[in-house]
Amino acid sequence: MATPKIDPSLKLSSPGGDGPLYAETVIIHPRTVKGTFRNWKWAAMIVLLGIYHIGPFLRWDRGPDAPDQAILADLTGQRGYFFFLEIWPQEVYYLTGLLFIAAVALFFMSAVAGRIWCGFFCFQTVYTDLFVLVERWVVGDRAKRMALDRAPWTAAKVGRKAAVNAIWLLISLSCGVGFTLYFGDAPTMLVDIFSFREDIAVYGTIAIVGGCCFLLAGYAREQVCLYMCPYSRFQSAMFDEHSLIVTYEEWRGEPRKPARKGEGFEDRGHCIDCKMCVTSCPTGIDIREGIQMGCIGCALCIDACDSMMDRMGLPRGLITWDSTTNQEARARGEPTRIRLVRLRTIIYTVILLAVGGLMVASLATRHTTEVNVLHERSPMFVQLSDGSIRNGYVLKISNMIREDRVYDLSVAGLEGARLSVVGGVSNVASAELAIPPDSIGTFNVFVTVPRDKAGGKRSPLSFNLRETSKGEVARVESLFAAPDK
Ligand code: SF4
Ligand code: SF4
Repeated sequence: MATPKIDPSLKLSSPGGDGPLYAETVIIHPRTVKGTFRNWKWAAMIVLLGIYHIGPFLRWDRGPDAPDQAILADLTGQRGYFFFLEIWPQEVYYLTGLLFIAAVALFFMSAVAGRIWCGFFCFQTVYTDLFVLVERWVVGDRAKRMALDRAPWTAAKVGRKAAVNAIWLLISLSCGVGFTLYFGDAPTMLVDIFSFREDIAVYGTIAIVGGCCFLLAGYAREQVCLYMCPYSRFQSAMFDEHSLIVTYEEWRGEPRKPARKGEGFEDRGHCIDCKMCVTSCPTGIDIREGIQMGCIGCALCIDACDSMMDRMGLPRGLITWDSTTNQEARARGEPTRIRLVRLRTIIYTVILLAVGGLMVASLATRHTTEVNVLHERSPMFVQLSDGSIRNGYVLKISNMIREDRVYDLSVAGLEGARLSVVGGVSNVASAELAIPPDSIGTFNVFVTVPRDKAGGKRSPLSFNLRETSKGEVARVESLFAAPDK
């Protein structure tokens, strides 16, 4: 599979190409553009910020004594809640599964539509867009912002800059507060935060998250995409010649030349070298130089160029979202087609379906009882006065539902094994253990086996649990230690 080449040396800090190892950062002030992709970006911003800020206030009834917040990471109670799901600490593999699915989904998205995630959905992009919008409201469009940067430090300039930074700080504060609300009852926390009754850790988290938002979206901006985010480094491995990416139709645009009144476009390319695509680019690159690491696929250059093509009475799409195969076909005057079904996309789809299916199946057949056992090691065993061997264990039994439950505990694997529960029954074949709702019961248990039945130095032994009302069973394997025969 041929892969479109991306030159990693291109455009690292600013327009200008190869240069010294260190180049001072050039502040980029992208021009405002209007068009389809810009509208999609506004829509994505509203939806994502809406979900982020409304998320903690969604309610989900889980019955009495249970948190009713739909999405909650309860650090104190050591639980994660996501609508109908309640994740216990030992089930953290669900989170691993979700992260894996997210990573493969990103690969899939990139194989189909390039860096659509970076350009439209990444929170760095969303907040940067919002921060640029604030600058535009307070200072004005690109030319005014550049002029203000160049202007000497007068009271007016300080006022404008202070106003921009103050609004950025408010947005960053809302970002930090929004984040912490996922870790407690949101309405209560919100009141407590603003009445200064919250824990210092909450204010610390708000400061860290809000501070990162302020610095990354306000000042670092495209530097995050170029230097901090690893994705741009390996993106070329995700694309192939059928991936839809933002490209310039060089065959149609070149040779570029400024438009002059009365001149036609017969013996020249359609690019009028207006640089609208460059000045509207949030990372400051010139897409006419080819696919570049700095391109986050935001498609604003498409809107910018389309508006110029409209003005010139030329067909739109000189900069377009298309595959390199289609670009080549179009240059030859051949028909184009979008190929979504390819080996790469099939593999990603299969992985997504397999892991997603596995997770759904595991959730559907999920046990509501978990048992863990720890064999006491000092001493490994004790020989009693009648010669029998005794081993000690700590059993942790999780009752993962909101009902009182009683379990019948027995052991299997060694003949004549008897159980004793510290603080409970002694020398019995099976013992009843009561565990309150939604909690973990810890029991110190002794297993005693007659000397002649104790087997070798280490014999397999299993603890079996049977819930007495609904009959759910759980089993955990361990070992029984005895002296050498
Ligand atoms: S916006 Fe279009 S016409 Fe203007 S420089 Fe860019 S590619 Fe050429
Ligand atoms: S080149 Fe176009 S698509 Fe790429 S980052 Fe710049 S404006 Fe966005």
